[in-house]
Amino acid sequence: MTIFDKIINGDIPSYKVYENQDVLAFLDISQVTPGHTLVVPKKHVDDIFGYDTDTAQKVLLQLPIIARAIKASNSDITGINIQSNNGPSAGQSVLYSHWHLIPRFDNDGLTGTLAPTIDNSAEFSPERYQKIADAIKAQFGKE
Ligand code: AMP
Repeated sequence: MTIFDKIINGDIPSYKVYENQDVLAFLDISQVTPGHTLVVPKKHVDDIFGYDTDTAQKVLLQLPIIARAIKASNSDITGINIQSNNGPSAGQSVLYSHWHLIPRFDNDGLTGTLAPTIDNSAEFSPERYQKIADAIKAQFGKE
């Protein structure tokens, strides 16, 4: 059981910003920027790889709605990064799927997220891009 299961069960407190039958949004304790919010499905999902279609629809549908509410909450917010870390190799520290909504402010001094601050394009030929794209494309409909 993760700390987010406990928050959803009401066993530990959180700063809730939105809730419906399927989704909970609450402030990330770390507040990378003021308003930093986490959106989670109420049904336990470990990570992006574990979503059924119904749960994915319910959670993803709320992201723009909650993003708009966050933006409207503070006139200094000029952007929002949405980030989900999936798997320890990707920096997931709480093994319960969550979507970070991180408000951004003009000149907030953050260097941004992984994309687009890192540019490895010099290492990729058109053939290499195509090979990667084809390998991904070939996976659809396999399940
Ligand atoms: P990640 O590294 O993507 O798994 O992010 C986990 C996030 O959970 C971190 O940003 C933490 O600050 C946040 N977090 C951990 N415990 C709590 C908590 N009790 N309430 C709110 N946020 C939490």
